[in-house]
Amino acid sequence: MNQCIFCKIVRGEIPSRKVYEDEDIFAFDDINPLAPVHFMIIPKIHLPSLAEADPSHQAVLGKMLAMAGTLARSQGLGDGFRSIINTGRIGRQEVYHLHLHILGGPEPLGAMMGK
Ligand code: AMP
Ligand code: ZN
Repeated sequence: MNQCIFCKIVRGEIPSRKVYEDEDIFAFDDINPLAPVHFMIIPKIHLPSLAEADPSHQAVLGKMLAMAGTLARSQGLGDGFRSIINTGRIGRQEVYHLHLHILGGPEPLGAMMGK
């Protein structure tokens, strides 16, 4: 068994507030939300980052994006949201299991990036 924290969440070894689960993907609230609604969509397979993705991951990556709108609406984000994937050192990725952040709330978010 690997020690990846998000793999442990998928396996139920670490608690999370689950937003959605199917055979390929898992979605759960971020423990340190940066917006009124902030959850992440992850593949169940351990893929460290978008930098390691290749065409063999096309189906699961496509599903993560294809489910984003439905899951966002299910969390009250019917009027839009921001989706972010941080990758590697330059992207300041902290957890090396690919995750798609979904953020939003009742008011428009701040500018996309600070300096
Ligand atoms: P990133 O910087 O894109 O790698 O984001 C990692 C995210 O994972 C951060 O927003 C953390 O707050 C979040 N995170 C870390 N540990 C947990 C956890 N146990 N449950 C939920 N979210 C977590
Ligand atoms: Zn993992």
